[in-house]
Amino acid sequence: MFDLENIVRPNIKALAPYATARHEYEGEAKIFLDANENAFGSPVTSENDEGVPFGYNRYPDPMQQKLKEKISSIKGLPTQNVFIGNGSDVAIDVLQRIFCEPGMDNIIICPPTYGMYKVCADINNIKINEVPLLANYQLDLIGIEAAINANTKMIFICSPNNPTGNSMYCDDVEMVINNFDGLVVIDEAYINYSQQKTFIPTLTEYANVVILQTLSKAWGLAGLRVGMAFGSAQLISYMNKVKYPYNINEATQQLAIAALDNIATVNEWTKQTIIERSELEKHLAAQYFCKKITPSDANFLLVEFDNAGDLYKFLCTQGSIVRDRSRVILCENCLRITIGTTEENIILVQQIRSFYK
Ligand SMILES: *Cc1c(COP(=O)(O)O)cnc(C)c1O
Repeated sequence: MFDLENIVRPNIKALAPYATARHEYEGEAKIFLDANENAFGSPVTSENDEGVPFGYNRYPDPMQQKLKEKISSIKGLPTQNVFIGNGSDVAIDVLQRIFCEPGMDNIIICPPTYGMYKVCADINNIKINEVPLLANYQLDLIGIEAAINANTKMIFICSPNNPTGNSMYCDDVEMVINNFDGLVVIDEAYINYSQQKTFIPTLTEYANVVILQTLSKAWGLAGLRVGMAFGSAQLISYMNKVKYPYNINEATQQLAIAALDNIATVNEWTKQTIIERSELEKHLAAQYFCKKITPSDANFLLVEFDNAGDLYKFLCTQGSIVRDRSRVILCENCLRITIGTTEENIILVQQIRSFYK
């Protein structure tokens, strides 16, 4: 039986978190003289969701209760199972700091994959066991099993995966969850674009799963920095203990709450992106210089070209930036191309064709 307490670092278990002034008081106060704020106002103001002018002189809700309620109702799980970070990158860092003893513990990652798992681990001095994906970009279950040792605390699975764009087989992910006595982090940053369903409903079944999602991609709010982690109440309470006290600023909380009312728009953009994705795929696949396109469940395509490195540099001179993944394991000669607007995609294809002609 998985017991989270067995893998939490002892110093984190013993940690007395910073208690904010607003944590301690539970009534309905009218006079706030507890946090050394400026009682006179703030030089800039905004409007709250009822259109009332609103300053930033007060500290924001440290637990983001209103925002969590909104996210909860959309995602269909209680607020106690929701953590919000200043981008999901922060959630990656917080998780590593809760479970991994620097210089001793390790995590498993499956390259080619999202770079922040390794960067965070390097910063935190956590060892990394790399188990590359198979040639079809699926999980190497045998390799993962062999890489697990007594100090392995977490396995990061990105699905749909960045930069390959494909989703991992559900059965494989469940196999990892069922056979690992540590935490399985499933990064679903691109889930809105995926044919596969989210693992959120399995949280009630598995205590060792945490799911990462973000408002940065399909929700169109990369500039706001809102990332989410979903997990057991026990896990989320450790994340809350370790996070910085006022980790989501007031402007972001207000804007994110307002933004989450626009599901219909987001669904429309997502539909449009998926249509554009198959258009772009069709146009590129017809060209002789395009060697391979990985079927994508995300808002980008991983495309193998002749001379990808030179193509990348040429596109830069034309004012178009894509992501050069040509020196990444299993991505030789590949560029990762984000799906743009119809016009942007047409221009990009024209520029690519002019490079090869
Ligand atoms: C973009 C991305 C994120 C980062 O999301 P933020 O919330 O903007 O920090 C996380 N995981 C993957 C796989 C991503 O591609």
